[in-house]
Amino acid sequence: MSSAHANPFVREIAPYMPGKPISELARELGIDPIDIIKLASNENPLGPSPKVVEALRAGLADLTLYPDGSGFDLRNALMKRWGVKSDEVILGNGSNDVLEMVAAAFLRPGTAAVFSQYAFAVYPLATKARGARGIEVPAVAWGHDLPSMLAAIDEDTRLIFVANPNNPTGTFLSSTAVREFLKEVPREVIVVLDEAYYEYLPEADRSGAEAWIHEFPNLLVVRTFSKAYGLAGLRVGYGIGQAELIDLLNRVRQPFNVGSLGLVAATAALADEEYVQRTQTLNAVEMERLASSLDRLGFPFIPSRGNFITVEVGDAHAVFNALLRQGVIVRPVAGYGMPRHLRVSIGLPEENDRFIAALRAASKEQQ
Ligand SMILES: *Cc1c(COP(=O)(O)O)cnc(C)c1O
Repeated sequence: MSSAHANPFVREIAPYMPGKPISELARELGIDPIDIIKLASNENPLGPSPKVVEALRAGLADLTLYPDGSGFDLRNALMKRWGVKSDEVILGNGSNDVLEMVAAAFLRPGTAAVFSQYAFAVYPLATKARGARGIEVPAVAWGHDLPSMLAAIDEDTRLIFVANPNNPTGTFLSSTAVREFLKEVPREVIVVLDEAYYEYLPEADRSGAEAWIHEFPNLLVVRTFSKAYGLAGLRVGYGIGQAELIDLLNRVRQPFNVGSLGLVAATAALADEEYVQRTQTLNAVEMERLASSLDRLGFPFIPSRGNFITVEVGDAHAVFNALLRQGVIVRPVAGYGMPRHLRVSIGLPEENDRFIAALRAASKEQQ
């Protein structure tokens, strides 16, 4: 059998379940993809920035060449944006790639990583893929319990993953709470601070954690172009940390891990502040509108600081399927141990209206 000699810890992994693609549902329902809305993977509903599309067109000429393996232009732009040095930034094929690199550099059988209950699914996946032990700390009010995560660190612990805001719950930790936590974590334990939804936060709530790396040599800040910058399809993310830490990650990084179009698009996206501003405003307005609709309909939800909201719908499996039949794709979170909830990305106003109407119809169907 071809799998006979596979790593036993790999065999135990439950594969990541992505959101259902529009094309797949269109085939199943036999309807036009145009009649389907996808609010399942926290993608930016605005479509790509026109400036990014223009940069991509120019970038097409270089497709036959390998990309710049060091990502010089993008790293340079990130250095300027965040006030860090070039050896303090690493690029990833999505921030997921950076999470994998840090797992590759620090985890192996016999070691452990700490993360919260209901935290982003990639943390346990990346941990298991290295044969390491996951230490899952019970959540408090769906969010990270930092004091308990601190107490959970044992002699095998090499990594702690903190998602802020967290996906799929949208819960948020103040900068003060995260800093106090960092002060207590032993210096040889790496803290991965995953800020995938950073740009959705109002200025006052942004951690500015990139400036903390000099104080905390064990801090790796991870951010992405997949969400607010609208580039999920191109796979670009990055990590910021002290040079010694970044150097380690570079040793396990694939030589050309970010494609040339991804580099070009992310560089253009970073410069297009108007697009990110528009994204943030749309999200804030629609989040509030969706929350009040849910309140009115009597659906409890977890207050969210991301670009999604996780709603308690009762039998989530049944409601998910009833929504699908109406051409609305959301995200079940039963795999997270949340069988009564669905995660819904904030869409355009008309998409959110359609979701609310479909949810109302689906819940009537349940009664
Ligand atoms: C979406 C997400 C990511 C990463 O996505 P990439 O597309 O790989 O950059 C990372 N962390 C969290 C918490 C996320 O929700």
